[in-house]
Amino acid sequence: MLKVCVQCGTTWDEVLTEKRVGCVHCYEAFSKEIKSLKALYFGKGAFSEVEPPQQKKPENSGKLLELKERLTGLIQQERFEEASKLKDEIYRLSEHGSH
Ligand SMILES: [Zn+2]
Repeated sequence: MLKVCVQCGTTWDEVLTEKRVGCVHCYEAFSKEIKSLKALYFGKGAFSEVEPPQQKKPENSGKLLELKERLTGLIQQERFEEASKLKDEIYRLSEHGSH
């Protein structure tokens, strides 16, 4: 099924390839498609925000706290190179090391 904007004659295929709409009426004509496209783009991010709590290991959060305290200390001492390395480690731990 080929959808076309009746105002400017732009097809949904053209919107996808040109990455822009022909006129303001296109938003109305392709509202369903645009909506599903947005869900495709933003759905992934929304999904990764959902963290199952049972996967958080208690020893991880304890270590995380310790590392964060150390990070604060390093920043106060202006040891930014070490701090950035520690930041990476904290990031990995907070992502429950799945990457
Ligand atoms: Zn149009």
